[in-house]
Amino acid sequence: MGAGNKRRYILLFGAQGSGKGTQARLLQDYFDIPQVATGDLFRYNLKNQTELGKLAKSYMERGELVPDEVTNAMVRERLSQPDAQEGAILDGYPRNLAQAQALDEMLAEWGGEVTQAIYIEVSEEELLRRLTGRRVCRECQATYHVVFNPPKQEGVCDRCGGELYQRDDDKDEAAIRRRLEIYMKETLPVIEYYRQRGLLTTVNGEQSIGDVNREIVAAVLNSDEQ
Ligand code: ADP
Ligand code: ADP
Ligand code: ZN
Repeated sequence: MGAGNKRRYILLFGAQGSGKGTQARLLQDYFDIPQVATGDLFRYNLKNQTELGKLAKSYMERGELVPDEVTNAMVRERLSQPDAQEGAILDGYPRNLAQAQALDEMLAEWGGEVTQAIYIEVSEEELLRRLTGRRVCRECQATYHVVFNPPKQEGVCDRCGGELYQRDDDKDEAAIRRRLEIYMKETLPVIEYYRQRGLLTTVNGEQSIGDVNREIVAAVLNSDEQ
């Protein structure tokens, strides 16, 4: 789908389970720019036991944020890759004001800027239902839900045939609540930061995946015209 060749940095906000990953994958196909999900990048490094993965491990296990220097450097490296030269869909970053400022500086260095921030709003009750039923592909990280968005064949990824699993941090309700709490504390100020700059669109996340997607695409295309 050719949606123009403007360089776009689209930020997706929303608590864990609001559907950021699900939407980022749809947007990546629509706008032809990659999804950059810091959680996926950390999990990849963890799985491959890289230095970065070892550094991030204890924080991830506690459901806490990995230190900003580590996270910012990882994002800089990812956004420098050839496939991200026309922009990216950022999912899970920035998560606090220091990261938001680091991102602004990084993009300014490259003559870019944040083009649109989307906040996907979902009630806490619904978030818990979604997180406890979430399943993720080991190979391509696509997300499914056992009830709301099941794969065609149980336990198998529709996109790549990979095996689906449940993240450890989705099994533990205490860890889920801790992540939601940190989210509220650290990330709501970031959402405010973009709202004040007139870059934020809030979308009702309690609609079908397709309807949420249509609203986000409309908001992004609308911001192109401004
Ligand atoms: P996030 O990346 O924000 O944590 P995900 O995209 O992983 O969220 O979605 C969390 C869970 O909710 C997944 O199991 C996903 O399949 C499901 N989900 C996503 N969007 C919707 C929706 N609009 N309605 C119902 N379930 C959804
Ligand atoms: P969730 O949003 O469901 O907590 P993510 O997949 O976004 O999960 O992230 C998993 C873990 O990776 C987080 O709990 C945190 O430890 C780390 N992480 C992800 N994004 C960031 C970030 N922007 N800054 C610091 N740590 C992060
Ligand atoms: Zn897959």
